[in-house]
Amino acid sequence: MCQPVAYTYPQCGHLVASRDTYDLQRCMRALSTNMDCWIKPDDAKARVVRRTWPGLALGPCSSCARIAEAKNASMANAGKTDN
Ligand SMILES: [Zn+2]
Ligand SMILES: [Zn+2]
Repeated sequence: MCQPVAYTYPQCGHLVASRDTYDLQRCMRALSTNMDCWIKPDDAKARVVRRTWPGLALGPCSSCARIAEAKNASMANAGKTDN
């Protein structure tokens, strides 16, 4: 059975794609027939394992960018209330 894999950023561990997105890592049978096993989407989601992105360096993590943005916004707000 093929293995559903969700990739994470090496630097922070956040998911590269959205929560419902996964790649299938092909099993021997899939490799020899050149066809992925059919797995029920619910089963696939339950069996997803996280792996660190093995490819080339990714751009900045979008989750971290969002967190940084929220932090900046709250700091700006805090600055306003201080004055
Ligand atoms: Zn398979
Ligand atoms: Zn991140």
